[in-house]
Amino acid sequence: MKLVIWRRTIDEQDERSACAEPVLLGPHAVPPRPARAGRLDDGVIVAPSRAASGAIGAILVPVNLSGRVLRNRVPLRAGLHAARHGDELHIGEQLYWLASDLAPEEATYDPALHGEDLFCHLTKARLRAGDPIVLCPGTQHAPCGLIQSARAWHAAAAAGLACSACGFRADAEEWRPPRRAEDNRLAGLLRLAARKEAR
Ligand SMILES: [Zn+2]
Repeated sequence: MKLVIWRRTIDEQDERSACAEPVLLGPHAVPPRPARAGRLDDGVIVAPSRAASGAIGAILVPVNLSGRVLRNRVPLRAGLHAARHGDELHIGEQLYWLASDLAPEEATYDPALHGEDLFCHLTKARLRAGDPIVLCPGTQHAPCGLIQSARAWHAAAAAGLACSACGFRADAEEWRPPRRAEDNRLAGLLRLAARKEAR
C-alpha cells in the first residue's frame, strides 16, 4: 500500500508524491526523499503502514526535532506516532499533508498471491490465473481489497457505480490539502465586495 504526501511549495503550489517505502520529510524546501538516503536527524520519517487501527502510516520524530514538529498544530514529541488521513505536518518552514492513496491497483490474477479459487465480485465469473484484475483501494477510513476482473471494474467505473463493499467511487475527486484560513478570508472579502457592487 501507498501513502500520498502533499507538500506546499514556496509559491503556494501543492505538490503530490506517492510513496510505498519510508520517506524523509525535511524542514527545508526539498521534496520528500527515500528515508534510507538520509540520516535519522535530517527530518521526520513517514512510513506507509496500516498497523494501528484507522492509521495510514507511522510518523517517526527524531530527538533533535522533539516538540518542533506540529501535527494538526499540536507539537509532537520524539518517537513513533500513528498517521491518519488528512494529518497536517509542520516541519520547520515546511508544510506537508498525509493522505491515503486511493488509486485502484491493477494486477494479473495469481492464485498464490491473491488466493485460490476466486470469483470476480461483480460478474461472479471464476477468475483464471493470468486474468487482468483490479483490487479496490477502499476509502479513507478502511482498506477494501475486493477483487474483480479488470473489464468488469472499468465498466462499473464508467457507469459511475460505487464498490458494494466500501463505497469507493472511481470517479470521486482525490482529496486535496485545505487552503489556509487567510486564503479563505481573502476569498470571503472578495465575495463581500462583489456582492456590495452588485447592489
Ligand atoms: Zn471496495
